[in-house]
Amino acid sequence: ATPTSIMVGTGRAAELGVLFRQGEALQALRDVRVVAFDKTGTLTVGRPALTDLRVAPGFDEAEVLALAASVESRSEHPIAQAVVAAAKAQALAIPEASAFDATAGFGAGATVAGRRVDVGSDRMMRQLGLDPAIFAHDAEQMGDEAKTPIYAAVDGKLAALLAVADPIKPTTAEALKTLHALGLKIAVITGDNRRTAQAVADRLGLDQVEAEVLPDGKVAAVEALRSRFGPIAFVGDGINDAPALAAADVGIAMGAGTDIAIESADLVLMRDDLRAVATAVSLSRAVMTNIG
Ligand code: ADP
Ligand code: MG
Repeated sequence: ATPTSIMVGTGRAAELGVLFRQGEALQALRDVRVVAFDKTGTLTVGRPALTDLRVAPGFDEAEVLALAASVESRSEHPIAQAVVAAAKAQALAIPEASAFDATAGFGAGATVAGRRVDVGSDRMMRQLGLDPAIFAHDAEQMGDEAKTPIYAAVDGKLAALLAVADPIKPTTAEALKTLHALGLKIAVITGDNRRTAQAVADRLGLDQVEAEVLPDGKVAAVEALRSRFGPIAFVGDGINDAPALAAADVGIAMGAGTDIAIESADLVLMRDDLRAVATAVSLSRAVMTNIG
C-alpha cells in the first residue's frame, strides 16, 4: 500500500464517519475474518431500564428497591443508573450509603441505614454464600427475554431479583447482516449473563457468544476467537474494553465511548451506528485491492 492510497482511503472513510487513527489499520481491516462486539453500549443502546422486581418472602418491594438504589447511586455502572432511575420514578426516598465498594463484573455493596446491602450478578450472590435458586425460574425467563437479571441481598439474606433491559440499537441488525454478507464471522464478548447474551445473539444471528467474561478476561476471549477464526476486529466503548481493543488486530471504538477506549483503538466511529463498521471493511477491501 502506498502512502497516497492510504491517505485517499482514510480520507474517504472520514467522510463516511470512520476516523482512522492508524493508516495501517486499513490494511489490517482488509484481512479481518471475524468481528467481535461488546454488548452494552455497542450492540445495544447502553441505557438499560428496570423492568422487573420480585422480592423474597418477608421483604417489601419498595423498601428493597430504595436500599438497592442507595447502593447503586454510588456506582457508575449502567445497570446502577437503571436501578436509581426506577426508585426515583416511584418517588422513593433513597437513603445515604456508606462503606461503598464495587467489584468489576460482579456488582456493588454498601452500608445503608445500618444494614449491609449488596447488588449484583448471580455469581456475586454465590460468592456471598447465597443461593439464588428460589429465583432460578424467573431469572431464566428474564434472560431468555434478553433482560439482565441481578440480585439484591440485605444483611446477608437474598432479598430480591431485579431485571434490566437494554434495547438493541435500531441500526445494529442491518449492520450485522451486511458484515455477514461480506463473509465475516460475528461474535459478542460480554460480562453479562449467558442466557441474556444468547438471547441477544439469537435475535441478531451471531455466530459465537463469549458471555460472563470478567473484565480482565476480554483479551483472552479476543485471542480465543482469533485462533478459531483468524484476524479479528473488536468493537467496544467502555473502560473495560480498552485492553481488548488494543489486543485485537483492529480495535474499533464508538465515538461516544470512553476516552480510554478511543485511545486504545485504531478506528473510531463518529456516529453511534455500527453500519459504519461494514462501510469501513468494504472501503479497506476496495482501496487495498486497487493497489494490490
Ligand atoms: P459488560 O461486559 O456488559 O459491560 P460488566 O463486566 O460491566 O459487563 O458487568 C457484568 C455483570 O456484573 C453485569 O451484567 C451485572 O450482572 C454485574 N454488575 C456489575 N456491576 C454492577 C452493579 N453496579 N450493579 C448490579 N450489577 C452489576
Ligand atoms: Mg459497553
